[in-house]
Amino acid sequence: MTYSYKREREIAIEAVIRAAQLCTAVQAEISPGTIEKKDRSPVTVADFGSQAIVCRALGEVFPDDSIIAEEDSAVLQQAPNEPILEQVAGHVRQIHSGAGVTEICKWIDRGVARHSEQRFWTLDPIDGTKGFLRKQQYAISLALIVDGRIEVGVLGCPNLPLVPQADDSRGAIFVAVRGRGAVALPLGRDGGETPLAVSRQADPAQARFCESVESGHTSHGHAAEVAQRLGMTAEPVRLDSQAKYAVVARGEAEVYLRLPTRADYQEKIWDHAGGVLLVTEAGGTVTDVAGKPLEFSHGSRLSANRGVVVTNGAFHDRMIETLVEVGVR
Ligand code: AMP
Ligand code: MG
Repeated sequence: MTYSYKREREIAIEAVIRAAQLCTAVQAEISPGTIEKKDRSPVTVADFGSQAIVCRALGEVFPDDSIIAEEDSAVLQQAPNEPILEQVAGHVRQIHSGAGVTEICKWIDRGVARHSEQRFWTLDPIDGTKGFLRKQQYAISLALIVDGRIEVGVLGCPNLPLVPQADDSRGAIFVAVRGRGAVALPLGRDGGETPLAVSRQADPAQARFCESVESGHTSHGHAAEVAQRLGMTAEPVRLDSQAKYAVVARGEAEVYLRLPTRADYQEKIWDHAGGVLLVTEAGGTVTDVAGKPLEFSHGSRLSANRGVVVTNGAFHDRMIETLVEVGVR
């Protein structure tokens, strides 16, 4: 039987929009010296607030679904973090007036599942925390997984222009349902849906690729070697968060490479599930560095995979061969 997941799609969009409102409000308060002071409290406040909002929304409508989300409230409930909890509560109350701190912690802890049930959600309340602090790219990523397959993916990108390169249209939400394509819409929902399609560029030499800003999250060196072998001349586009998946899904780049920097790192499902469905529904291909499909049925990690390779699908095999030649494992 085919499910259209209409209700799931709608609830997920609404939840991500509200979470994005909270994140935007927190980000607006970041003072210029925050990064220099290594003060991560704004991202902590937004992270917990965003998770509370999304998990509340899912819990109200789908109480039987489990949620594998990045955070839990244990740290937040420690006495020294009381001021942070108060700030989280202040921001959550902008959306749910009257919410109590105990209630908010309960909402956050709806996201503590770590095993893949037959049907579950996965959430990254703020993906790209460094980008959030730099007031650049970050995303709220939510996906529904059923029988190990991503069925619904929603990515909120408050700082990404809806129209590529048009800075006056900041704030986009990307939505995909398996078998039904992917679309972009304004985060304010004050406009229509634009279908997403990957670039049709079939010549890897002409391809543009994106990667993490953080060299600890992907091997910039290996990517440069791969680019050189394939004759790619465009400079890599570096941006934080799953906004990279959106960029490939809408044809602004042909490739997103996430190449392991450590032998023991396993990718987290919440860093990928939302974005992967956008790209595959827009016509692209996503595998690990060995060309294997990503497996979303092993709890919170992609433990059966290494790294992630995203392309428009036109030269994916060639990309994997090149990665092997370069010795990426
Ligand atoms: P990005 O914005 O692409 O740099 O990715 C941010 C995500 O990288 C975070 O949500 C982390 O979960 C994840 N991350 C942390 N350490 C690593 C690592 N060693 N390799 C790959 N990803 C990592
Ligand atoms: Mg993340």
